[in-house]
Amino acid sequence: MMKYISTRGNAPELTFEEVLLTGLAADGGLYVPKDVPHFTQDEIASWQDLPYAALAHKIIYPFVEGCIDDKALQQMIDDVYGSFGHKAVAPLQQIDHNEYVLELFHGPTLAFKDFALQLLGRLLDYVLKRRNEKVVIMGATSGDTGSAAIEGTKACDNVDIFILHPHGKVSEVQRRQMTTVQGSNIYNIAIEGNFDQAQDMVKASFGDQAFLRGERKLVAVNSINWARIMAQIVYYFYSSLNIGGPLRPMAYSVPTGNFGDIFAGYMARKMGLPIEQLIIATNSNDVLHRLMSKNQYEVRPLKHTITPSMDIAVSSNFERLLFDLYDRDGAALADLMTKMNARDDIVSLDEERLARARELFDSLAVDERTTVDTMQEVYEETGYLLDPHTAIGVRAARDCRRNTGIPMITLGTAHPVKFEDAVKRAGFRLPPLPHHLTDLMEREERYEVMPADLKTIQQFIADKTFGGE
Ligand SMILES: *Cc1c(COP(=O)(O)O)cnc(C)c1O
Repeated sequence: MMKYISTRGNAPELTFEEVLLTGLAADGGLYVPKDVPHFTQDEIASWQDLPYAALAHKIIYPFVEGCIDDKALQQMIDDVYGSFGHKAVAPLQQIDHNEYVLELFHGPTLAFKDFALQLLGRLLDYVLKRRNEKVVIMGATSGDTGSAAIEGTKACDNVDIFILHPHGKVSEVQRRQMTTVQGSNIYNIAIEGNFDQAQDMVKASFGDQAFLRGERKLVAVNSINWARIMAQIVYYFYSSLNIGGPLRPMAYSVPTGNFGDIFAGYMARKMGLPIEQLIIATNSNDVLHRLMSKNQYEVRPLKHTITPSMDIAVSSNFERLLFDLYDRDGAALADLMTKMNARDDIVSLDEERLARARELFDSLAVDERTTVDTMQEVYEETGYLLDPHTAIGVRAARDCRRNTGIPMITLGTAHPVKFEDAVKRAGFRLPPLPHHLTDLMEREERYEVMPADLKTIQQFIADKTFGGE
């Protein structure tokens, strides 16, 4: 059975089931697999003709073995990916010779987060039913995570989900994707404040869960949850196998915020998939680009951009990479993270360790002007409209590419229809909603508007979750 350990080396080892139900480790670290499963080239090559769901089972099963039954897992995977809006699940779109966009936006909420959160919902339901427990999911969102989490858990009997969004500050499509989902376990709260205030209230609630009076536990659905990373490893294998892997190596460019999606690519490589280059593509919230290019780690205030899903000040999952770069020395990492989180100084990494990361990773920060220009550039070349997050990935793919003989795949993280501002700024008309959402603008909405006050929010959650309401 796979065991999971904390990056800071001072928390109990957990099983998959326990990791699924835990946020941060008790020592403040993040959980990672103790031993990473490894596949031979022959084994990977033998999966060349597998459809997405069958391949997903091969990749995911070793991580959950002993906790989730083999057949139950296949059933969940078939349910999840069988309901996507494209039969290939994660189709490749060619945009130039040897250059591709991997379309990860055919799930119910039109962003890649569906790949993980749809499965996470099923996994939670399975585990909680067996344990006869109920949990509360609480999250703050500026868009994509909230809708994907709600869609993923709407059918979970043992989960109540509370998603906070800043009132009037998410696009109409994004708001409606959250507020029109039917389900007596779903609560949308529009906060009279900004995203940071919403996030602070969620963090405070995780830190002190007394308001739940011990009857329930909070579960995290952001990418510190290992189960999310796990599900995202699959599409690296799938895309590679579709264009000649594992015999040919691949390069990937990944629009990055919290470093979850690109970390899944790093995992795929550790598991045996030949990947030559991983490009960290950021917007002007460029903390990782500054670290990679100048070896200076300095947290700066959040900037709000036309790529809101990448607006982060700190990339939590980077700690998982640092853990490997520091040879899985939890004590050393705990020290380093204390310095990095103190934020009163610019922190540098050990040069040799950074050099090792640079063998695989490159990085680029892309400003709004260049993002919009890249949307126009690709449209003029191919007639294909990129969403602004994906455009940042394509820009970085083109500027940082090391070897044009190796296929370059940019992860297409969202559908452009979700980002009206950017699409209009680039001078395009908003594309039509995909078929399963054509009536989105007519559906009935349900949400509560509340002040940005922690006590009020916590009281609301307590009222809704006690006494079998
Ligand atoms: C969440 C998100 C990202 C960033 O992914 P991370 O795993 O946080 O790095 C990029 N693009 C879109 C559209 C997203 O929703």
